[in-house]
Amino acid sequence: MDNTILLVDDDLGAIELMGHVLQGMGRLQFATSGADALRLAQESVPDLVLLDAEMPGMSGFELFRAFKALPALADVPVIFITSHKDANFEVECFEIGAADFISKPVVAPLVRARVKTQLRLKHLTDKLRHIATTDGLTGIANRRQLDDVLEREWLLARRTGEPIAVLMIDVDHFKLYNDHYGHPLGDVCLQQVARALLGIGLRPADLVARYGGEEFVMLLPGTPRAGAEHMAQCVLQAVAVLGIAHAASPTTPHVTVSVGIAWESGGADRADLRGDGLGAANKPPKRSASDLIAAADIALYRAKHAGRARAHSQDSAC
Ligand code: GH3
Ligand code: MG
Ligand code: MG
Ligand code: MG
Repeated sequence: MDNTILLVDDDLGAIELMGHVLQGMGRLQFATSGADALRLAQESVPDLVLLDAEMPGMSGFELFRAFKALPALADVPVIFITSHKDANFEVECFEIGAADFISKPVVAPLVRARVKTQLRLKHLTDKLRHIATTDGLTGIANRRQLDDVLEREWLLARRTGEPIAVLMIDVDHFKLYNDHYGHPLGDVCLQQVARALLGIGLRPADLVARYGGEEFVMLLPGTPRAGAEHMAQCVLQAVAVLGIAHAASPTTPHVTVSVGIAWESGGADRADLRGDGLGAANKPPKRSASDLIAAADIALYRAKHAGRARAHSQDSAC
């Protein structure tokens, strides 16, 4: 387990001393200013930060707040190091969310013990978060993670006027697959489909999740209708090229999926986001993130009804 510990102190001597104290406890990174620390942490997220509270320029507290404001860094534990002896100061550190507090002059065995505790807690928290947000069978995002990310991306899309799309993907005749090949091979099939979905040229903000059973959702932030329809074709293709035999399928002799496509257009097409004064009068009823999923589900139903192994869009007829 290779921990990364970021030491932030404007005093090079203090960094050197702390580097000595923490030798062998992980990969140590150093920064002598808040700005450098922020840049380093964004490049490679540390497991723990030891932060000098008193620094010129960006103070330890300001840097701490900057960390908390960035989703990627918000959960990184921070131990404040300070020469303050005041109990109120210590309380303040804990109140703003510090993981621990160490007073200068530092006592080496105490620092090592506290760092060890924080690293252990960090790994436990990471593990729990992973279990809570990942599907056990396929290793991709689970429904809970999808719900969280969808809600966040939906609100972001509303604020920025960017488009957003979802694909609802359902394995065709999967009950027959299980009946024919057995449940364990059904599980393997779902794992292969999940891997194929991940293998499509996804952008960093895209998310593939297991929605339930043999259903998957692909969330595509910043993607308009044409892009979503293109991705749906990629999904059909990626599953088809797996070439998984499905002798019991009335559709094709290999495993296929059906896809429902739904999207919310970007600001340029949206009356409610236009600044031309016409917006308010023409305002469509407010859609929610779950409406988007529901629209994809209806489109999926149409794809099934039309013969499976195909994609249908939210506005396509039955
Ligand atoms: P359709 O083409 O209309 O989607 O038909 P279908 O048979 O795929 O749909 P249906 O909803 O009737 O059946 C879904 C099947 O998926 C039934 C269920 O046993 C199976 N299933 C759900 N979760 C799992 C799983 O984790 N592993 C396996 N092996 N099968 C699963
Ligand atoms: Mg200082
Ligand atoms: Mg289904
Ligand atoms: Mg199915």
